Amino acid sequence: MSNFEVYEIDQHTWRIEDPIKVYMYLVEGENSALLIDTGMGFEGLDITVRSLTDKPVEVINTHGHLDHTGSDHLFENVNIMDLEKDVVKEHMGLEYRKVLIPGLLGSIDSDRIRSEIEKLVNIPEKKDMKYVGEGHIFDLGGRQLEVIWTPGHTPGSICLLDTENRQLFSGDSVCSMGVLLHLDHSMSLSIYRDSMEKLYGMRDRFDSIYPGHHEVPIDSEYIQEYMGCADKILSGEAATVEMPDEVLGDALLSTHRRIGIVHKGII
Ligand SMILES: [Zn+2]
Repeated sequence: MSNFEVYEIDQHTWRIEDPIKVYMYLVEGENSALLIDTGMGFEGLDITVRSLTDKPVEVINTHGHLDHTGSDHLFENVNIMDLEKDVVKEHMGLEYRKVLIPGLLGSIDSDRIRSEIEKLVNIPEKKDMKYVGEGHIFDLGGRQLEVIWTPGHTPGSICLLDTENRQLFSGDSVCSMGVLLHLDHSMSLSIYRDSMEKLYGMRDRFDSIYPGHHEVPIDSEYIQEYMGCADKILSGEAATVEMPDEVLGDALLSTHRRIGIVHKGII
């Protein structure tokens, strides 16, 4: 049985879901295909991708977290923003993985998932990654995806924009639930807000947002809600509660309309 479920978005775009509901996207052009993120690292992603396209496949990571880069080692050409180097180093470190992965998966009510924890901890590191920057274009032949730098969740978080097909792939920068800005390497609230303002300024170029988790697809008004939430936190007016988090560190949760931002206060 495959570890992955595949959902067709259109004839040349698929959402691939791993057992802990992390989403990856396979985007195919006339000459090649781009795999956006590689999930937690459950076995068989390469086989699933091969069942969908026979074109050469390149990977782009929206950021360096271990639930987005887990199967990078199965692919030859893997790209990420250079600002993610330290995040990748931390998330690929064995000591870190030994703590974080059981912390994230140990309480999931699935024997199958829990039995994979040791394998996931010991995933081989992808060596020779390639670095891309803001504005880089992945030209797949008749289909182009542009790198949009959206620092906040991590320093080198990116979104991928397919203007022709009006799709934005947002990683962990925008989703229907909440964005985590309380991690050691997260950027300040105002930097994240600037990223959202930049995306919102591009909203006439896409209709749907395809995030790394939760509801999918989502509309561009979510971006405005994140801006509104950040504004309220910065002005001290946000509805805020304490959020104990043993795995990633205690934080504050501020909510606004449909979403929330997890943060450490105004820094
Ligand atoms: Zn993340």
